[in-house]
This record gives sequence, structure tokens and C-alpha cells, in this order.
Amino acid sequence: MRHVLALDQGTTSSRALVVAADGRVVGRGSRELQQHFPQPGWVEHDAQEIFRGTVEAARDALREAGVTPDAIGITNQRETIVLWDRTTGRPLDRALVWQDRRTTARCAELRAAGHAEAISRATGLVPDPYFSATKLEWLLQQKARAAKVPLERLAAGTIDSWLVWKLTNGAVHATDPTNASRTMLFDIDRMAWSDELLALFGVPRDLMPEVRPSSGAFGVAGAEHLGAAIPILGVAGDQQAALFGQGCWAAGESKNTYGTGAFLLLNTGPVRPAGGQGILTTVACDATGAPAYALEASIFVAGAAVQWLRDGLRLLEKAPESEAMARALASNEGVYFVPALTGLGAPAWEPEARGTIVGLTRGTTREHLVRAALEAMAYGTADVLEAMRGASGAPLDVLRVDGGATFNDWLMQFQADVLGVPVERPDVIETTAMGAAGLAGIAAGVWPDAATFFASRTYQRFSPTPGANVARQGLGGWRRAVRAAVSWARDTDRGT
Ligand code: ADP
Repeated sequence: MRHVLALDQGTTSSRALVVAADGRVVGRGSRELQQHFPQPGWVEHDAQEIFRGTVEAARDALREAGVTPDAIGITNQRETIVLWDRTTGRPLDRALVWQDRRTTARCAELRAAGHAEAISRATGLVPDPYFSATKLEWLLQQKARAAKVPLERLAAGTIDSWLVWKLTNGAVHATDPTNASRTMLFDIDRMAWSDELLALFGVPRDLMPEVRPSSGAFGVAGAEHLGAAIPILGVAGDQQAALFGQGCWAAGESKNTYGTGAFLLLNTGPVRPAGGQGILTTVACDATGAPAYALEASIFVAGAAVQWLRDGLRLLEKAPESEAMARALASNEGVYFVPALTGLGAPAWEPEARGTIVGLTRGTTREHLVRAALEAMAYGTADVLEAMRGASGAPLDVLRVDGGATFNDWLMQFQADVLGVPVERPDVIETTAMGAAGLAGIAAGVWPDAATFFASRTYQRFSPTPGANVARQGLGGWRRAVRAAVSWARDTDRGT
């Protein structure tokens, strides 16, 4: 039996999975990752700790599996950027994490100077500290100058390229199009670094990794790291890896991750779609691991609404109790909760919006509020998917799901009823790592093609209930509640 080692380097931990050709997970490992908050709004990781933790997690997984894998696949937290010295192998500073907001003023300046349109045209993104470009600019200005290291000795890259460089002992400095597409330096029409944007952010081209196909050769990890020399044959950013791991490699296939927030991606195939309303255009993978386009959006508060009802209002003790509470009611009885606790994302896009509960009566109970929080995840997902479909013209055939809140069967059925399409939940929920395993395993011949890889995965399917009027009609009430939340945010007349 052949095996693939998947390395999943996430924001809070580094995990490793050994996947057998028949789809079974035969080894697991993980290491926590320390978060550094040196100033308000700053978020950093120690890149050396990232590498160490990833290798330790991998060794644990390999020990449990007792096999030597045929290939390594890497998936990673996106946008987070490292600047290092090729000669010493040491980072010049901690990695600046995607959550880091230190370049907020710089992004406002870019918008004011009229760069937003060119950035969006080239990259599919909007100027925001979230993406790597302004962080790399900051590192170059603040750290590279001070360190007085000649520019030609420096290398930069997202976490995938840092891991590849370390594992290959400096032999390969490469990334893939999915990670590159999140840097705000990559032209997603030409699938190459944008000279204009590199110039805008003062990034010498030689600093950047070579961009190679997501499924293909990224060098060989040295035997001193994992006990044997193993080829690295797959690389993709976490969301795109999850999309691939969910088998969504053709136009119209989408996945949603229901965690603290929700992350939606819709594969739109070979033609670049238009974004807007908080929906970004990004690069994903087709069935061979070659670039395809995708639309991506996030819902800032999804499972976090249940957390807030639990910790803030103490309406329940554990999130899974929400399932029985929602089932206890035949409908929401007109109660809607728009959990815009940190503003409204796609497609309404109103940063000033705040949480809004409407439709309260003397009969309202905690069950109503809990059910409304679950319904909000399903309605919010439907709104984003409808906007994506409008932007791309891609049909929606199925929604594949992962993340903590998908264990809620009531929510999954309600989601299928609201959308009118089947919702499919995989039995192995580590879809991100599975995607990295798939990309590497296909290149290694562990699976001859994506369809064979996907055939090794099993799913539970939630089909729309015929005549599910409660869910469909609910969507209309939800949209009215969203309009109420938006109008509250925009009506600033305080009646003084
Ligand atoms: P993250 O990776 O973002 O930390 P997870 O994928 O672990 O999140 O999912 C945790 C989130 O899912 C929490 O916000 C929690 O409130 C929610 N959650 C967990 N279990 C359930 C459940 N059975 N029903 C509804 N929400 C749930």
C-alpha cells in the first residue's frame, strides 16, 4: 500500500496526516503554535517554531503509521509572510500573520492614491492588510534596512515556500499559484508575479519564490528531517486545498467551512469571474492541480454566534446542545438573528452593521434565539452562494461542507432545504490535509487521477426535503432582517 504525508500548517497549530491509498488516515500528529501580539493589532509567528513544530508533528504521524510515504503534500495558513536570509537560513523577523493589521494606514493610502482598481484588476483582491504585499513592504523597510543584509541574500515567501525551502535545505524556493494569488503581488490573468505591483511595493523580483503547479515537483525533503528523502509533490493554500480535498475541481462545485467564521469557495473553472460585494476572485485547482478560478467570501461570524449565545448570554452550555433546541421548534416563529457582531461581510458588505435580533414577542424563548443563530449560518451561506452564482453564471449542483458546526445534523438538513441542493459532509473531516494529500498523491501516482482519489472518500448526504417551505420562506424573512441591520447602521441620526 502506498501513502502520502500531508502537512497542514495552520494559524494555531501545525498538523500532519498520513493518508493511505485507500483513503484511510493511518497516522496523525500535531503541535500548538505560539501567537505573539507585540502591539495592538499586530500578530506574529516564529517561523523557526513553525518549521520545528511541522517536522515534529510529521515525525509523530509517521511513527504512528509505521510507513515511509511516497510523497509530501503541503497546505498552509495563507497570506502570512516570512523574510529570511538565504545564507544563514534565519528569518529577519517573525512571520507577519494574515490577521496582522499594522499596514492599515498604508492600505488606506493605496486607496486614496487610486491604486485599488489596478490592484483588483491584476490580483482579484482589494487593498487590505490581510494580504501579504504591504506586510512584505513593511518587513523590507523596517527590518531589511536595519539588518543591512544585501538584498540578493534575502528570500521571501508565504509559509508553504518557507517550509519547502527548509525541508529541501535551501535547494528549492518555490510556491504555487493558490498561495501566490493571496499575496496581492500576483497577476491572476497571466499567472505570474506582477512587475507593476512588485515595483509598487518595492519588492525585488528575485526575492520572490518561483511559482510552480500545485500538483508537481517541489524538490526532495532531506532525510535528516523525516527519516527518509521524500519528494514534495503538492502545495496549496488551506482554503484551496480544502476545495480540492472536497472534490470541487470543476465549475459549479463549492465548499463551505463552518467554523468560528464561514469560508465559502466556488470553483468557476477556466474563465475568470468578476468579484465585488466582498467576494474576491482567487486561484484554485482543477482536477489535474492546474490553475482554475474560484470566488471566495467569508462570513465573519458563523459558529461564533453560537459561542456568543453560550458565553455571552449563557443560553446553552455546549454548542452541540443547539441541535436539540432548534429541533424543539417547528419554525422560527418570525425570530431572526443577524449576527453582524463585527460588521456584515459578503454580499451586504456593511462594516458598520452590528448584531440585530428582530421579531421578538412575549412567546420568545432561548430556543428561538439559538435556532435563529443556526438558521443565520444557512441563510448567510445561501446569500453568498447566490451572489457568487450571479457573478459567475456557474450553476450550483452540490455544497460540500466541513468545520466544527457541520456536526449539527439539523443545521445540515436546514442548509440543504434553504438551498434546494444536496449538502454533503465527508466522514474524514480534515479536508484541508486531504486536499494536500490528493495533490501530492496524484503527482506521485498513488492515485492515477483526481476521480480515483475522490472515490476513496466517503460522504453523508443531506438531500432537500420536498416542499421544505419553512426553510425557503425563512430566507425572505432573513433578508428583511439584514436590510433592517443595514438601515440601522446607515441611519446615524441620533435625534439630538
Ligand atoms: P475554528 O477552526 O474556526 O476554530 P471549528 O471548525 O473548530 O472552528 O468549529 C467551532 C465552531 O463551531 C464554534 O464557533 C462552535 O460554536 C461551533 N459549533 C461546534 N459544534 C457545533 C454544533 N454541534 N452546532 C452548532 N455549532 C457548533
